[in-house]
Amino acid sequence: MSDYDVVVIGAGLSGAVMAERFASQQNKKVLVLEQREHVAGNCFDFKNGHGITVHQYGPHLFHTNSEKVWEYLSQFTKWQAYEHKVLSSIDGQLVPLPFNLNTLHQLYSKSEAQTIENLLIEHYGWEQKVPILELRKSELQPLRELGELVYQKFFVNYTAKQWGCSPEDISPAVTARVPVVISRDDRYFHDKYQAIPAKGYSKLVENILSQQTIEVRLNTDATKIISLNLEDKSIQFNGKKFTGKLVFTGMLDQLFNYSLGELPYRSLQFEFETLAQQTFQPETTVNYPNENDFTRITEFKHILQETSPHTTIVREYSQDYDRNDPSKNVPYYPVFNDQNQDRVNQYKALVKSFPQIITTGRLADYRYYNMDDAVGNALNVFNSVI
Ligand code: UDP
Repeated sequence: MSDYDVVVIGAGLSGAVMAERFASQQNKKVLVLEQREHVAGNCFDFKNGHGITVHQYGPHLFHTNSEKVWEYLSQFTKWQAYEHKVLSSIDGQLVPLPFNLNTLHQLYSKSEAQTIENLLIEHYGWEQKVPILELRKSELQPLRELGELVYQKFFVNYTAKQWGCSPEDISPAVTARVPVVISRDDRYFHDKYQAIPAKGYSKLVENILSQQTIEVRLNTDATKIISLNLEDKSIQFNGKKFTGKLVFTGMLDQLFNYSLGELPYRSLQFEFETLAQQTFQPETTVNYPNENDFTRITEFKHILQETSPHTTIVREYSQDYDRNDPSKNVPYYPVFNDQNQDRVNQYKALVKSFPQIITTGRLADYRYYNMDDAVGNALNVFNSVI
């Protein structure tokens, strides 16, 4: 085991970037351990039998304002331009999400919409973004009422399905990801760079990991072969002392054998369907806040503009994570509230007491990272430890 300078647990974006940095910048010998049978974590994708690129763990749409992240990833992939659009099914109509001035005009009469539009522009300014929980508290009654309508029709039931609670019971940053936008821009994201890896995310991550001094072991549950000694803070690998660096991108509670209690996560179930028709819906994703048990339907062929007489869609069902239930044991989202944050901080303090351990990623940091955050953080973490 002392053959390796660095062991990375998890071959998702965060783990892959860390492995690549240690290999390419420091010529370190890196072993990447991945429990699944493939790399790329939850952005894993593949082309199905109908020539459609499918995201096995739900839709992943890359967007970033970071030059650094964009330039870093561009070493490993070519891009296909793509700007994500989402519609929400409200009262039998499909309307643009985030809620913007076009949505306003679709749901209100012309004169009402114009009055509210003027107020929004006057009060907040053109192209401003207002979190829904803030709009609901506006001192102006018509804006408060608009906030209430958007909250009730777009957020309450979707959030109940997605998180099992109301928008007030989850960190405000979660619903602020989808603010009310004061413009006529129907795009879901407004970042400078928006594109999909031309050959898919799996290929991108494979390329990141293709350094000569990186070895990847799939189907390997690292927590079964690595053990941490809580007394002297040493690390054992296959029964022998490991003296290098351990990069951990998984769940902190699992790493420490749940010694401080479990951290909650939300899991998902996906129902894929391939239909013998050209298209199913007008945009990539349609959200269903108030109908159905699923939260949204994504139609994949729109993403890379693939042509096929068939189309593949996926319905997403949200559920609590349960490590003992094979249908619920994939963690997708940490559950963001103050109570959970305390326990996370305790686990993070435990991590800090191990000088060899480095953590990064959505699970290990217990944060709602987008893909660009995962990459940007891994780059920063690497710079801070070397
Ligand atoms: N949300 C909502 N209604 C929607 C879309 C989003 O209430 O139609 C809320 C919900 O709480 C969700 C959060 O906003 O979890 C963030 O949405 P986003 O689309 O960023 O979620 P992701 O794509 O990461 O699952």
